[in-house]
Amino acid sequence: MTHTAPTARQTSPARTVLISGAGIAGPALALWLHRYGFEPTVVERAPKLRPGGYKVDLRGTAIEICKRMGIMDAVRARSTDMQTGSYVDTNNRTVGELPADIFGGRSGDDDEITRGDLARILYERTRDDAEYLFGDSIASLTEDADGVLVTFENAEPRRFDLVVGADGMHSHTRRLVFGDERHFKRHLGAYISIFTAPNDLKLDRHEAYHALPDKLVCAYSSRGETTAKNMFVFASPELTFDHRDTAAQKEILANTFAQDHSWEIPRLLTNAEAADDFYFDSMGVIEMDRWSKGRVVLLGDAAHCTSPASGQGTGLALLGAYHLAGELAAANGDFGRAFAAYEAHLRPGVEHTQKFAEGFVGEMTMDRKWKIQLRLLMVRTLPKMPWRNLIAKKITEDVQKMAHIVPVKEYAEARAGEAEARAGEAEARVTEVVRSGSTV
Ligand SMILES: Cc1cc2nc3c(=O)[nH]c(=O)nc-3n(C[C@H](O)[C@H](O)[C@H](O)COP(=O)(O)OP(=O)(O)OC[C@H]3O[C@@H](n4cnc5c(N)ncnc54)[C@H](O)[C@@H]3O)c2cc1C
Repeated sequence: MTHTAPTARQTSPARTVLISGAGIAGPALALWLHRYGFEPTVVERAPKLRPGGYKVDLRGTAIEICKRMGIMDAVRARSTDMQTGSYVDTNNRTVGELPADIFGGRSGDDDEITRGDLARILYERTRDDAEYLFGDSIASLTEDADGVLVTFENAEPRRFDLVVGADGMHSHTRRLVFGDERHFKRHLGAYISIFTAPNDLKLDRHEAYHALPDKLVCAYSSRGETTAKNMFVFASPELTFDHRDTAAQKEILANTFAQDHSWEIPRLLTNAEAADDFYFDSMGVIEMDRWSKGRVVLLGDAAHCTSPASGQGTGLALLGAYHLAGELAAANGDFGRAFAAYEAHLRPGVEHTQKFAEGFVGEMTMDRKWKIQLRLLMVRTLPKMPWRNLIAKKITEDVQKMAHIVPVKEYAEARAGEAEARAGEAEARVTEVVRSGSTV
């Protein structure tokens, strides 16, 4: 990025905000910014909304944000409604089964939804209030005293008051403004791949796990789905590949599991080839000294990816969007103050979550057979143990502590908009019922 003038404190309120990335954080921010009277524009590199992803947990304070956004009913309607999770042996025999809520450490209103469904809900709630530019990307950013001149790969150049990089772990905005990803990314020693596949195992709201040394393979199917999702995780030092080259990633996955014939691995692996929502990435974290520079700020994974191992990345993206917009609205034009307050509020929770993720990667890819045997023994015997409720409570308490680690700050404008959002949600529900021809 080019700076042509220092940008200390702005007095006239910023109104136009360019958001790079229509994943989770970007559309959530657009929703809040619109509610506060800003004009958000979202640019997304993909030609349309990206549907992929495994199920993601929404817990604790992130649930409160969903309620305030007015999307909680829509989230519940698309809840995975998972009932059970089990470990299976090489012959597909169940070794032990637990209720899904214990697996997920869920409590109260906590819910689970696929990442793709959440992305769609957020997009549908914002597409009339924010401008979306699909199939495009920022080419350059030039900041001056009054704003940022943005050139795009396709669209004509435009000026914006502020720019937000919500373009994921491999953030392009971060690269333009802060430098190469290698300065900020720390690989946690494993890779993860997720894709939609036929539900060959006839799973119904059930998730099956099969563990091998250094590897974990899962498949699940959620409520009302005719398909399943397959997930492959494997321990590995950092690999060199182009994160946009899906064919190369499929090859890495196929080679890594080529010698593994236990359970249904060969069949599940074959499904990767045809998957059009194939996702493959490093279990890594993004660690930065600061999340903003001048008029540009990072949000979600772009700022602080906590890796899929944390189970908190989506919740933190929603919390970040709420607080960034709230601070911008409250700062009345002093965007530097808003960026600092947003970061100060999120950072302690992010750092705690990243530490947890680092430890949990080893739990996902157990490196010794005896560790796997111990896990299987635990899962098999836990339901029969007299103290099972205590253990379940402890698991839930630990997860819940993390799920509440970022408290929800109050912004006067947020509560005012909430009533409106709830009314909108009720209206959307009625429209849905009328459209589907069913009765209430
Ligand atoms: C397809 C996909 C599947 C995923 N599956 C899982 C999963 O199963 N489990 C899990 O824990 N996490 C998954 N993640 C990551 C998870 O979505 C994030 O950790 C979390 O939700 C934070 O969201 P985010 O909006 O910050 O980033 P993301 O959800 O990663 O969204 C970033 C968005 O930015 C877009 N983008 C990238 N480069 C550019 C550019 N140059 N210009 C414009 N836009 C750009 C991307 O296409 C994407 O839509 C997935 C991400 C993606 C993109």
